[in-house]
Amino acid sequence: MTKFEALGLDKPLLDAISDLGFESPSEVQEKSIPILLDQETDLVALAQTGTGKTAAFGFPMIQKIQSESRTTQGLILSPTRELCLQITNELKLYSKYVKGLNVVAIYGGASITEQARQIKRGAQIVVATPGRMKDMIGRNMVDISKIDYCVLDEADEMLNMGFYEDIKDILSNTPQEKFTWLFSATMPKEVATIAKKFMHKPVEITVGTVNAGASTVQHEYYVVGGRDRYAALKRLADANPGIFSVVFCRTKRDTQRVAEKLIEDGYNAGALHGDLSQNQRDLVMNSFRKKQVQMLVATDVAARGIDVDDVTHVINYQLPDEIETYTHRSGRTGRAGKSGISMVIVTRSETRKIKAIENKIKQEFIKKNIPDGMEICEIQLYHLANKIKDTKVNQEIDSYLPAINDVLDGIDREELIKKIFSVEFTQFYNYYSKTKDLNSSEGGKDKGEGKGSKEDIPSEGSVRYFINVGERDGYDWMSLKDFLRDTLNVEKEDIFNVDTKDSFSFFNSDAHLAEFILQTFTEFKLEGRFINVEISTKPGGGGGGKGGKKRSGRKGGGRRGGNSSYKGGNKGGGRGGNKGGYGKKGGKKRSGFY
Ligand code: ADP
Ligand code: MG
Repeated sequence: MTKFEALGLDKPLLDAISDLGFESPSEVQEKSIPILLDQETDLVALAQTGTGKTAAFGFPMIQKIQSESRTTQGLILSPTRELCLQITNELKLYSKYVKGLNVVAIYGGASITEQARQIKRGAQIVVATPGRMKDMIGRNMVDISKIDYCVLDEADEMLNMGFYEDIKDILSNTPQEKFTWLFSATMPKEVATIAKKFMHKPVEITVGTVNAGASTVQHEYYVVGGRDRYAALKRLADANPGIFSVVFCRTKRDTQRVAEKLIEDGYNAGALHGDLSQNQRDLVMNSFRKKQVQMLVATDVAARGIDVDDVTHVINYQLPDEIETYTHRSGRTGRAGKSGISMVIVTRSETRKIKAIENKIKQEFIKKNIPDGMEICEIQLYHLANKIKDTKVNQEIDSYLPAINDVLDGIDREELIKKIFSVEFTQFYNYYSKTKDLNSSEGGKDKGEGKGSKEDIPSEGSVRYFINVGERDGYDWMSLKDFLRDTLNVEKEDIFNVDTKDSFSFFNSDAHLAEFILQTFTEFKLEGRFINVEISTKPGGGGGGKGGKKRSGRKGGGRRGGNSSYKGGNKGGGRGGNKGGYGKKGGKKRSGFY
């Protein structure tokens, strides 16, 4: 018997679950599903984002509904159109073996008559945003007078967005005799009020610490001058070549502006905010899901609840006004048990807000430095080397080889390598060789970046190392830290600032450990492979060419689409022209702004 079977789920759901590849229920699922299946009761469930709440209410609802009847029996209210569609899609996947079950989404910005038609064909489950729901009730396009179950999903956010009156109106059209299941990440007063007013002795479930961020997320902050915010954002992106991120801004205007600047600078970015048409929002979300957009710049409202897997970084371009909002933001990463990083860019005067957030999420922030230009160059060089190594040779080139050989005649291997690297690297080098340190003063204790070389091991401060294993070897910052701690037999705190990249990583230790660490990793083999640790060095003037001219109009420090190797994203080559690693590329903005 599988763990899902033990919860009381029937075959059609179990089959779908196995198709989905879910191995065992999450905690909120384990706690809610048996209750909702066995008891006719109201329920309040509090769990962080990314803990699988959709299935926690979706599985029992699907199982309890009579699919033979066409009556609408289940209503799910959710705050945004994106979320509404996401829930609908999930429920369709869950119920794929339940014959005759129809799940219909109704939301604003799309044809109301088409939605009414779908409802008319028979929808046992309706997933709706409050505004459109009210509208359709008013026009007699939907009948919710016979529902048995009502779910308020992301209840805190619905109330945040001012849907209280709408929800009240909608619920007044539902029968007294029904069961209401409320799901929320946080429990502000307003949610408690709703629970009291509209629910009858609800069973309460809490998963984890309420209001706490997921513990798989590492929280970091960077202190910069107010005018350096954008430059800092760029560096954070450049220092993480595989980044797949949501960048949060406070206003629609900033969101738009930052996205536009990123696109102008050659990044695969897109904007998501309420001033865009629904169609534009759909386009940008689709590109993001396909990982064509690597940096989704969004407002809190527009991005709420969006469930996209594998988001590696959440970047708080500005801190939100409400501390609670930070929880929602950072919950976009570290989903489904994976690890993620939430970065906050703050000015000196904002650092006290960090303390307040720490208290709220019960997790500490790590203060980090914006990487300096040379460290970024180093990262980009290694990244490029690995990309070249991993590139599958295109056999079509064979026929051109003699001609190419003619052109490159007389250039030896080393020279050739230097030239190839310079093609891609010089733009970074030119940009970053002139840039200043962006970090606002405040200690500077762990500022060992790029200091020293193998011969001269620093004797104080902290030391930054390069190690030739990374995410493709199955490490994330947590597991690499564990590996280092176990291998070196040191305390967890002795290794810090672990940054995993695709095929290599960086970490720090106190200087007094440096010799020991380098020694330990001399001739060190793991599963037959040499693990190499070096003190992270600056490439110095190695990048060649001081031409100073910006190439192809791209501002320095920008990058092209092909310069990234986010997991699984860029392989299919679906985007014409965007694969060429270091050659010239056609248009620069391919998947950017819509
Ligand atoms: P929440 O609503 O709590 O934010 P979701 O319901 O959106 O979370 O689920 C987050 C992700 O986890 C989804 O991609 C979902 O398919 C996946 N998921 C849900 N339950 C499981 C499970 N038991 N095992 C593996 N993945 C799961
Ligand atoms: Mg959800």
